[in-house]
Amino acid sequence: MQGEMEDKCGIVGIHSKDDSKDVASLIYYCLYALQHRGQESAGIASFNPTIGLNHYCGMGLITDVFSNERIQSLPGHMAIGHVRYSTTGQSKLENSQPFVTDFGDGFIAMAHNGDIVNSGELRQELIDEGFYFKSDSDSEVICYMLKKEHYDNDKNVIDSIEAVCKKLVGSYALTILVDGELYGVRDPMGIKPLAVAKRDDDFVLASETVAFDVINAEYIRDIVPGEIIYFENDEINSHMLESAGKCKLSHCMFEYVYFARPDSTIDGINVYETRMNIGKQLHELYPIDADVVIPVPDSSIPAAIGYSRASGIPYGEGLIKNRYVGRTFIMPTQEERELAVRLKLNPIKKAIKGKKIILIDDSIVRGTTSKQLLDLVKEAEPAEIHFLVGCPPVIAPCYYGVAMATKKELIAANYSIEEIQEQLNIDSLGYITLPALVKAIGMPEENLCMGCLNEDYPTEIPEGLEAETYYKP
Ligand code: SF4
Repeated sequence: MQGEMEDKCGIVGIHSKDDSKDVASLIYYCLYALQHRGQESAGIASFNPTIGLNHYCGMGLITDVFSNERIQSLPGHMAIGHVRYSTTGQSKLENSQPFVTDFGDGFIAMAHNGDIVNSGELRQELIDEGFYFKSDSDSEVICYMLKKEHYDNDKNVIDSIEAVCKKLVGSYALTILVDGELYGVRDPMGIKPLAVAKRDDDFVLASETVAFDVINAEYIRDIVPGEIIYFENDEINSHMLESAGKCKLSHCMFEYVYFARPDSTIDGINVYETRMNIGKQLHELYPIDADVVIPVPDSSIPAAIGYSRASGIPYGEGLIKNRYVGRTFIMPTQEERELAVRLKLNPIKKAIKGKKIILIDDSIVRGTTSKQLLDLVKEAEPAEIHFLVGCPPVIAPCYYGVAMATKKELIAANYSIEEIQEQLNIDSLGYITLPALVKAIGMPEENLCMGCLNEDYPTEIPEGLEAETYYKP
């Protein structure tokens, strides 16, 4: 359900072999395409061999943070960028990325998507060694670990990244600028996506392929889990981490269900097709007799089309989304939160009144937004409401960078499906099953992370670690 969970970040990197070129504007467009992955802050770091490193981060949407003048102030043929969604209590500029740290006459700039579950311990080790932190983000921990290996321990960049990754437990996709070169890294489980493309002679790294499309770059491949890539002599160079291939692949299933844009392809699987398949699977599980199939826009549109095609029941728009309501909308009171749902979505009474409707949503997390949404739909007086959900019950939090809710707040962790249906006061409620979701994605189950659905997490979770919840002002 939109607004109930957020991915933390989208990352980008561009390497041009022409050092007279400025690539910050291309980074800007890529970040624009990845805005759905984070709306709290945005940043770009660029490198020019004569001028050195330039860097700017700000709070808000990419268009709020970067004016044309600001982009012009970021010269360089190499650059990285980041969009971020903040988590509990951390909506502040200090946590925005890329992080930059300098050493001797060098620097490291780094953009991270993911969450490091042992970052508390790693941070303490660095503090004990005299490192001073300006943020409470785990990404700064990785940045300083890299600085320590590369500068203090005098290792080359690849050995430094290898040494750092050995200590990291959790999810990470990274774009790094160091020693005037661009590196891309993906954790050995492949939890977070990262792919590479080519645009003329330039290489582009991005969380999702949609970023390549906007700048007309040609997708080459996904970064292999546990791979470091860098660029030399017009070629992609690859170094596999020692841990690569030795741990279970764990691609986040939520990328396919909700986070990624439908026009992206991740690890060879097209997100739009997966969501269409989710609709087909929902029809196989729940062949309901109804007049119309209605999506909760936007992420559920392909699933509703899939259900409609499989069933022959017409697809119809029954809810209109106001595209201009920002996700950073502040809602301090319950009344205002309810108003916000009305502001975001409005039912088309004519399309709903007197009809048996199948309403399809991507997921239910806390259930509060679903309740408000269904109350709105009921005002349009449908004859029946059958609510189908494209994600199995979310029963546990995520520790890998998807900010959703604590276990106490997750409706499916505390109530049975029958009880949820009763609370929502609808004619029927059907969740996709885990096997049906796996079938819809089309990837072997053992290659997916489904920790929030079955509590089978791909890493140890340190005792007492609180899952991050999305930022609540
Ligand atoms: S726990 Fe859930 S949301 Fe988190 S990485 Fe795994 S599948 Fe994705």
